[in-house]
Amino acid sequence: MSFSRDFSPGPASPTNKYDRIRRYLCQEGAPDFRYRQVVQAIFRDRIGRFSQMVALPRSLREDLAGRFSDDVSGLSRVASRHSEQAEKVLYGLPDGKRVEAVALNFQAGWESFCISSQSGCGFGCSFCATGRLGLLRNMNADEITDQLLDFHLHGRTIDSVSFMGMGEALSNLHTFEAIRLMMRPDLFALSPRRITVSTIGIVPQMERLARELPQVNLTLSLHSPFDEQRTAMMPINRKYPIAELMQGLDHHVRTTGRKAYVAYVLIAGVNDTDEHARALAHLMTARFRQGRLLHVSLIRFNEVAAAPAAFARIDTSGARRFADLLRQHGVRATIRASFGNDIDAACGQLFANYQPGTSGRPP
Ligand code: SF4
Repeated sequence: MSFSRDFSPGPASPTNKYDRIRRYLCQEGAPDFRYRQVVQAIFRDRIGRFSQMVALPRSLREDLAGRFSDDVSGLSRVASRHSEQAEKVLYGLPDGKRVEAVALNFQAGWESFCISSQSGCGFGCSFCATGRLGLLRNMNADEITDQLLDFHLHGRTIDSVSFMGMGEALSNLHTFEAIRLMMRPDLFALSPRRITVSTIGIVPQMERLARELPQVNLTLSLHSPFDEQRTAMMPINRKYPIAELMQGLDHHVRTTGRKAYVAYVLIAGVNDTDEHARALAHLMTARFRQGRLLHVSLIRFNEVAAAPAAFARIDTSGARRFADLLRQHGVRATIRASFGNDIDAACGQLFANYQPGTSGRPP
C-alpha cells in the first residue's frame, strides 16, 4: 500500500484521517453530505476501498483514492491464527513495523477485541513477551483504530475493546485521541463503558484518563502486593511504587464514581501464596470505600517462550484457592476466562515467537 502525503498530518492538519478526508472534501467544494456518504460506506456498508464506494461519483472516488490511497485502513494483514473462540492477527504498519490484535468471541455472541497501542514495549515486564522486543514505536490514533476498522471490514461487530495487546496504552498519548475516535457517533460509535484501558500504572496519565474520559474502564496491572517483588517483575514500580499506585486508584474511583479493575497474573510459586493473597486483600480493602468499587481479575499465567523458566502456569485449583482467600477477606475477585492459548492469543503472549525484522510467525 502506498500512502500519499495527506495520510501524514502536517502541523496544521487534523491528526486523524477521517477529519483529513472531511477537510479535503470541504476544500474541494464537495457538498456536506459527501463526507457522510464516505463514513456510511465504511461503517455501515463495510466498504474498505474508496474505488468501491459506488454512492460517490467516479471522479471523487478516484480523487480520494489518489489522495489518500485506495485502502481506507493503513494496516495490512501479515498473518492470522484462528481457534474456536479467538482470532489473532499480525498487522503490518505502513513503515513495516508489526503489531498484533486479538478478537475474542464469547458464547453469548459478544465480540471483544484486544488491541495494541505500541509496536513492542519499553517497560520490560519480566513475564511479558512484548517487553522482550523493546519499544519500536508508538502507534498513532489512526493505526490504533485501524485494528478495529480491519476487523469491522472483515464482518466483525465491535462490541467491546481493551488495550491489552502490545504496549502500555497510557505511555502513548495518541491513545486518548484513538479512544475519542472510537466513541465518535459517525465512526465506531462505541460507548466509553465498552472501552477498557489497561495500564501498569502511569499515575499521571491514570489521572488524566479519569478527568477527560471518566466513563472509560480502567484496569491496573498489579501482579504483586510487595514492592520488592513487583519491581523485579515490573521495573516501572521504581517510579510508581505500590503506595502511589493505590493513591492513583483511589483518585480514579473518587473522580469517576465507577468501578476499577485490578489485574493480577497468577504465576505458580511466584505470587500465588496465602501471604500474597492476604497482602493483596489488605491493599484492596484499605482503599476508598473499603475497596467496594474495586474488582480483582485473576489471570492464570500463560507460559511465554521468552519468560524466565521459573515462571509456570498455576493449576485451576490453585487459582480457585487464591480467589477464595481474597473473597474471604471481603475482596471481589474472579478468575478471568483465558481462551486462545492454543494460538498464543491470550493477553501477554502477543509476539511470543515474533522475531524483529521478520514478518513474524506464519499462520
Ligand atoms: S506487560 Fe505491558 S507494559 Fe509490561 S512489557 Fe508487556 S506490554 Fe509492556
